[in-house]
Amino acid sequence: MTASTGQIIRSHGRRFIVEADGQTFDCTTRGKRVDYACGDIVDILIQNREQAVIERAHERRSLLYRQDDWKAKKIAANVTRILFVIAAVPTPNEELLGRCLIAAEAGDIDPIIVVNKSDLPETAALLGKLQLYVNLGYKLVTLSAKQDFSPLKPLLSGHTSVLVGQSGMGKSTLTNALLPEANARIGDISEALDSGRHTTTHAALYHLDENSHLIDSPGLQEFGLKHLKSPDLIHYFPEMRRYIGQCRFHNCSHCVEPNCAIITAAEQGAISKHRLDLLQRLSRELG
Ligand code: GDP
Ligand code: ZN
Repeated sequence: MTASTGQIIRSHGRRFIVEADGQTFDCTTRGKRVDYACGDIVDILIQNREQAVIERAHERRSLLYRQDDWKAKKIAANVTRILFVIAAVPTPNEELLGRCLIAAEAGDIDPIIVVNKSDLPETAALLGKLQLYVNLGYKLVTLSAKQDFSPLKPLLSGHTSVLVGQSGMGKSTLTNALLPEANARIGDISEALDSGRHTTTHAALYHLDENSHLIDSPGLQEFGLKHLKSPDLIHYFPEMRRYIGQCRFHNCSHCVEPNCAIITAAEQGAISKHRLDLLQRLSRELG
Protein backbone atom coordinates (compact mmCIF):
# COMPACT_ATOMS: atom_id res chain seq x y z
CA MET A 1 0.00 0.00 0.00
CA THR A 2 1.23 3.48 -0.91
CA ALA A 3 0.75 6.62 1.16
CA SER A 4 -0.28 9.83 -0.53
CA THR A 5 -1.89 13.19 0.19
CA GLY A 6 -4.95 14.53 -1.57
CA GLN A 7 -8.15 16.52 -1.18
CA ILE A 8 -11.67 15.33 -0.50
CA ILE A 9 -13.69 16.40 -3.52
CA ARG A 10 -16.92 14.57 -2.64
CA SER A 11 -18.46 13.69 0.65
CA HIS A 12 -21.57 11.67 1.05
CA GLY A 13 -22.33 10.37 4.49
CA ARG A 14 -19.40 8.18 5.44
CA ARG A 15 -18.04 7.87 1.91
CA PHE A 16 -15.52 10.18 0.35
CA ILE A 17 -13.83 10.67 -2.96
CA VAL A 18 -10.29 11.93 -2.73
CA GLU A 19 -8.30 13.46 -5.54
CA ALA A 20 -4.62 12.59 -5.28
CA ASP A 21 -1.77 12.28 -7.77
CA GLY A 22 -4.13 13.27 -10.60
CA GLN A 23 -6.46 10.36 -9.85
CA THR A 24 -9.58 9.90 -7.77
CA PHE A 25 -10.03 7.28 -5.09
CA ASP A 26 -13.18 5.98 -3.47
CA CYS A 27 -12.28 6.23 0.21
CA THR A 28 -13.44 4.84 3.47
CA THR A 29 -12.32 6.01 6.90
CA ARG A 30 -10.99 4.25 9.94
CA GLY A 31 -13.14 3.91 13.04
CA LYS A 32 -16.71 4.96 13.65
CA ARG A 33 -16.28 8.71 13.88
CA VAL A 34 -16.37 10.47 10.55
CA ASP A 35 -14.42 13.62 11.07
CA TYR A 36 -13.89 14.76 7.53
CA ALA A 37 -15.51 17.22 5.18
CA CYS A 38 -15.41 18.10 1.52
CA GLY A 39 -12.34 20.28 0.93
CA ASP A 40 -10.22 18.56 3.57
CA ILE A 41 -6.60 17.85 2.70
CA VAL A 42 -6.04 14.26 3.80
CA ASP A 43 -3.36 11.62 4.03
CA ILE A 44 -4.52 8.41 2.41
CA LEU A 45 -3.30 4.86 2.08
CA ILE A 46 -3.87 3.67 -1.46
CA GLN A 47 -5.13 0.10 -1.64
CA ASN A 48 -5.60 -0.32 -5.36
CA ARG A 49 -6.24 1.82 -8.44
CA GLU A 50 -9.65 2.88 -7.19
CA GLN A 51 -9.72 2.57 -3.45
CA ALA A 52 -7.96 4.13 -0.50
CA VAL A 53 -8.38 4.67 3.22
CA ILE A 54 -8.31 8.13 4.77
CA GLU A 55 -5.80 8.23 7.61
CA ARG A 56 -6.01 11.80 8.82
CA ALA A 57 -6.90 15.37 7.85
CA HIS A 58 -4.38 18.18 7.75
CA GLU A 59 -4.95 21.29 9.80
CA ARG A 60 -7.83 23.27 8.30
CA ARG A 61 -7.89 26.89 7.27
CA SER A 62 -11.61 26.90 8.14
CA LEU A 63 -14.46 24.53 8.87
CA LEU A 64 -18.17 24.99 8.29
CA TYR A 65 -20.92 22.96 9.89
CA ARG A 66 -24.30 22.04 8.59
CA GLN A 67 -27.29 23.22 10.56
CA ASP A 68 -28.71 20.14 12.17
CA ASP A 69 -31.00 19.67 15.14
CA TRP A 70 -29.21 16.85 16.77
CA LYS A 71 -25.56 17.07 15.88
CA ALA A 72 -23.12 19.44 14.25
CA LYS A 73 -21.97 17.90 10.99
CA LYS A 74 -18.97 19.16 9.12
CA ILE A 75 -19.90 20.24 5.63
CA ALA A 76 -16.94 22.04 4.09
CA ALA A 77 -13.32 22.53 4.99
CA ASN A 78 -10.78 25.13 3.89
CA VAL A 79 -13.41 27.49 2.50
CA THR A 80 -12.11 31.04 2.11
CA ARG A 81 -15.23 32.69 0.73
CA ILE A 82 -18.91 32.40 1.58
CA LEU A 83 -21.45 33.65 -0.94
CA PHE A 84 -24.77 34.31 0.72
CA VAL A 85 -27.37 34.38 -2.04
CA ILE A 86 -30.45 36.49 -1.40
CA ALA A 87 -33.18 37.92 -3.64
CA ALA A 88 -36.30 40.04 -3.24
CA VAL A 89 -38.52 37.10 -4.24
CA PRO A 90 -39.43 34.82 -2.47
CA THR A 91 -39.55 36.92 0.71
CA PRO A 92 -36.05 36.79 2.16
CA ASN A 93 -35.40 35.77 5.72
CA GLU A 94 -32.94 38.28 7.14
CA GLU A 95 -32.21 36.04 10.09
CA LEU A 96 -30.51 33.55 7.75
CA LEU A 97 -28.23 36.31 6.50
CA GLY A 98 -27.37 37.39 10.04
CA ARG A 99 -26.55 33.83 11.02
CA CYS A 100 -24.48 33.25 7.92
CA LEU A 101 -22.39 36.34 8.68
CA ILE A 102 -21.78 35.01 12.20
CA ALA A 103 -20.62 31.66 10.79
CA ALA A 104 -18.31 33.52 8.43
CA GLU A 105 -16.86 35.75 11.17
CA ALA A 106 -16.39 32.79 13.49
CA GLY A 107 -14.58 30.87 10.75
CA ASP A 108 -12.53 33.92 9.70
CA ILE A 109 -13.98 33.54 6.20
CA ASP A 110 -14.69 36.42 3.86
CA PRO A 111 -18.45 36.64 3.21
CA ILE A 112 -20.08 38.27 0.22
CA ILE A 113 -23.76 39.09 0.02
CA VAL A 114 -24.93 38.19 -3.49
CA VAL A 115 -28.18 39.96 -4.31
CA ASN A 116 -29.62 37.89 -7.12
CA LYS A 117 -32.59 38.61 -9.43
CA SER A 118 -31.58 42.23 -10.03
CA ASP A 119 -34.03 42.10 -12.97
CA LEU A 120 -36.92 42.18 -10.49
CA PRO A 121 -38.23 45.66 -9.55
CA GLU A 122 -38.51 44.63 -5.88
CA THR A 123 -34.72 44.50 -5.70
CA ALA A 124 -34.38 48.22 -4.92
CA ALA A 125 -36.29 47.85 -1.63
CA LEU A 126 -34.18 44.84 -0.66
CA LEU A 127 -30.97 46.77 -1.34
CA GLY A 128 -32.27 49.50 0.95
CA LYS A 129 -32.70 46.96 3.74
CA LEU A 130 -29.29 45.45 3.15
CA GLN A 131 -27.56 48.81 3.45
CA LEU A 132 -27.24 47.98 7.16
CA TYR A 133 -24.81 45.19 6.27
CA VAL A 134 -22.88 47.31 3.79
CA ASN A 135 -22.44 49.87 6.56
CA LEU A 136 -21.04 47.11 8.75
CA GLY A 137 -18.36 46.58 6.11
CA TYR A 138 -19.72 43.53 4.29
CA LYS A 139 -19.23 43.30 0.55
CA LEU A 140 -22.36 43.16 -1.56
CA VAL A 141 -22.73 42.43 -5.24
CA THR A 142 -25.94 42.70 -7.26
CA LEU A 143 -26.56 40.54 -10.30
CA SER A 144 -29.03 38.45 -12.20
CA ALA A 145 -28.06 34.81 -12.43
CA LYS A 146 -30.40 34.46 -15.38
CA GLN A 147 -29.02 37.39 -17.33
CA ASP A 148 -25.37 37.84 -16.37
CA PHE A 149 -23.54 36.15 -13.56
CA SER A 150 -20.12 37.52 -14.61
CA PRO A 151 -19.85 40.03 -11.67
CA LEU A 152 -19.33 36.95 -9.51
CA LYS A 153 -16.32 35.61 -11.35
CA PRO A 154 -13.59 37.96 -10.04
CA LEU A 155 -14.89 37.40 -6.50
CA LEU A 156 -14.29 33.66 -6.80
CA SER A 157 -10.81 33.95 -8.21
CA GLY A 158 -8.16 32.45 -5.92
CA HIS A 159 -10.76 31.26 -3.42
CA THR A 160 -12.51 28.11 -2.32
CA SER A 161 -16.09 29.31 -2.24
CA VAL A 162 -19.39 27.96 -1.03
CA LEU A 163 -22.90 29.17 -1.85
CA VAL A 164 -25.52 29.26 0.84
CA GLY A 165 -28.97 30.76 1.17
CA GLN A 166 -32.66 30.25 1.48
CA SER A 167 -34.38 28.00 -1.01
CA GLY A 168 -35.56 29.76 -4.17
CA MET A 169 -32.92 32.51 -4.14
CA GLY A 170 -31.07 31.17 -7.17
CA LYS A 171 -28.20 29.08 -5.80
CA SER A 172 -28.64 26.25 -8.27
CA THR A 173 -29.09 28.68 -11.16
CA LEU A 174 -25.78 30.31 -10.22
CA THR A 175 -24.04 26.99 -9.67
CA ASN A 176 -25.25 25.72 -13.03
CA ALA A 177 -24.01 28.90 -14.69
CA LEU A 178 -20.60 28.53 -13.06
CA LEU A 179 -20.42 24.77 -13.57
CA PRO A 180 -22.67 23.70 -16.39
CA GLU A 181 -22.11 20.02 -15.65
CA ALA A 182 -22.30 20.20 -11.87
CA ASN A 183 -25.76 18.80 -11.42
CA ALA A 184 -25.17 15.82 -13.61
CA ARG A 185 -21.88 15.17 -11.87
CA ILE A 186 -23.17 15.40 -8.34
CA GLY A 187 -26.09 13.20 -9.36
CA ASP A 188 -23.77 10.48 -10.63
CA ILE A 189 -21.72 10.60 -7.50
CA SER A 190 -24.63 10.36 -5.09
CA GLU A 191 -25.94 7.38 -7.00
CA ALA A 192 -22.59 5.66 -6.96
CA LEU A 193 -22.01 6.37 -3.29
CA ASP A 194 -25.45 5.98 -1.87
CA SER A 195 -27.34 3.86 -4.37
CA GLY A 196 -29.82 6.64 -5.03
CA ARG A 197 -30.92 7.29 -1.47
CA HIS A 198 -30.90 10.97 -0.66
CA THR A 199 -30.79 10.64 3.09
CA THR A 200 -27.45 12.30 3.69
CA THR A 201 -26.28 15.72 2.66
CA HIS A 202 -23.58 15.59 0.12
CA ALA A 203 -21.02 18.11 -1.00
CA ALA A 204 -18.73 18.28 -3.97
CA LEU A 205 -15.71 20.40 -4.78
CA TYR A 206 -15.34 21.58 -8.37
CA HIS A 207 -12.33 23.31 -9.89
CA LEU A 208 -13.23 26.61 -11.57
CA ASP A 209 -9.58 27.01 -12.52
CA GLU A 210 -6.27 25.95 -11.03
CA ASN A 211 -6.61 28.24 -8.00
CA SER A 212 -10.36 28.68 -7.68
CA HIS A 213 -12.77 26.07 -6.43
CA LEU A 214 -16.44 25.87 -5.62
CA ILE A 215 -17.88 23.56 -3.00
CA ASP A 216 -21.45 22.77 -3.91
CA SER A 217 -23.82 21.31 -1.38
CA PRO A 218 -27.28 21.38 -2.95
CA GLY A 219 -29.93 22.84 -0.69
CA LEU A 220 -27.49 24.37 1.81
CA GLN A 221 -29.61 27.02 3.53
CA GLU A 222 -27.79 27.67 6.74
CA PHE A 223 -24.59 26.82 8.61
CA GLY A 224 -24.62 25.34 12.08
CA LEU A 225 -23.54 27.63 14.92
CA LYS A 226 -23.72 25.13 17.75
CA HIS A 227 -19.95 24.87 17.99
CA LEU A 228 -19.79 28.52 19.08
CA LYS A 229 -19.67 29.71 22.67
CA SER A 230 -22.16 32.28 23.88
CA PRO A 231 -19.57 34.60 25.54
CA ASP A 232 -17.65 34.80 22.23
CA LEU A 233 -20.66 35.93 20.20
CA ILE A 234 -20.01 39.67 20.29
CA HIS A 235 -16.62 39.09 18.66
CA TYR A 236 -18.55 38.01 15.57
CA PHE A 237 -20.62 41.21 15.36
CA PRO A 238 -18.20 43.79 13.92
CA GLU A 239 -20.20 46.72 15.32
CA MET A 240 -20.18 45.25 18.84
CA ARG A 241 -16.49 44.48 19.22
CA ARG A 242 -15.69 47.95 20.48
CA TYR A 243 -17.90 47.34 23.55
CA ILE A 244 -16.05 44.21 24.64
CA GLY A 245 -15.21 44.53 28.33
CA GLN A 246 -17.55 47.49 28.89
CA CYS A 247 -20.56 45.68 30.38
CA ARG A 248 -20.95 45.76 34.15
CA PHE A 249 -20.69 41.96 34.37
CA HIS A 250 -17.77 40.32 32.67
CA ASN A 251 -19.97 37.34 31.75
CA CYS A 252 -22.86 39.54 30.55
CA SER A 253 -25.18 37.72 28.12
CA HIS A 254 -26.41 41.12 26.83
CA CYS A 255 -29.98 39.91 27.33
CA VAL A 256 -31.27 41.15 30.71
CA GLU A 257 -28.32 42.45 32.71
CA PRO A 258 -28.23 46.02 34.04
CA ASN A 259 -25.55 48.34 32.65
CA CYS A 260 -25.03 46.26 29.55
CA ALA A 261 -22.94 48.27 27.08
CA ILE A 262 -24.51 46.50 24.10
CA ILE A 263 -28.11 47.10 25.17
CA THR A 264 -27.25 50.73 25.96
CA ALA A 265 -25.63 51.18 22.53
CA ALA A 266 -28.74 49.70 20.88
CA GLU A 267 -30.98 52.07 22.86
CA GLN A 268 -28.84 54.98 21.68
CA GLY A 269 -29.14 53.81 18.07
CA ALA A 270 -25.46 52.85 17.65
CA ILE A 271 -26.42 49.20 17.19
CA SER A 272 -29.42 48.11 15.16
CA LYS A 273 -32.32 46.53 17.00
CA HIS A 274 -32.26 43.66 14.47
CA ARG A 275 -28.69 42.84 15.31
CA LEU A 276 -29.23 43.04 19.07
CA ASP A 277 -32.21 40.68 18.68
CA LEU A 278 -30.03 38.23 16.75
CA LEU A 279 -27.30 38.39 19.38
CA GLN A 280 -29.82 37.73 22.13
CA ARG A 281 -31.48 34.86 20.29
CA LEU A 282 -28.14 33.21 19.58
CA SER A 283 -27.00 33.79 23.14
CA ARG A 284 -30.11 31.99 24.47
CA GLU A 285 -29.75 29.19 21.94
CA LEU A 286 -26.15 28.51 22.85
CA GLY A 287 -26.86 28.82 26.56
P1 GDP B 1 -32.22 27.75 -5.17
O1 GDP B 1 -33.35 27.09 -4.45
O2 GDP B 1 -31.56 28.81 -4.33
O3 GDP B 1 -31.21 26.81 -5.75
O4 GDP B 1 -32.86 28.57 -6.38
P2 GDP B 1 -33.00 28.21 -7.93
O5 GDP B 1 -31.69 28.39 -8.61
O6 GDP B 1 -33.68 26.91 -8.05
O7 GDP B 1 -33.93 29.39 -8.42
C1 GDP B 1 -35.24 29.57 -7.92
C2 GDP B 1 -36.09 30.28 -8.95
O8 GDP B 1 -35.58 31.59 -9.19
C3 GDP B 1 -36.08 29.57 -10.30
O9 GDP B 1 -37.38 29.61 -10.82
C4 GDP B 1 -35.12 30.40 -11.12
O10 GDP B 1 -35.41 30.33 -12.50
C5 GDP B 1 -35.36 31.79 -10.57
N1 GDP B 1 -34.19 32.67 -10.77
C6 GDP B 1 -32.90 32.39 -10.56
N2 GDP B 1 -32.11 33.45 -10.87
C7 GDP B 1 -32.95 34.43 -11.30
C8 GDP B 1 -32.75 35.77 -11.75
O11 GDP B 1 -31.64 36.29 -11.84
N3 GDP B 1 -33.88 36.47 -12.05
C9 GDP B 1 -35.13 35.94 -11.95
N4 GDP B 1 -36.16 36.71 -12.27
N5 GDP B 1 -35.34 34.69 -11.54
C10 GDP B 1 -34.28 33.94 -11.21
ZN1 ZN C 1 -23.74 43.17 28.02
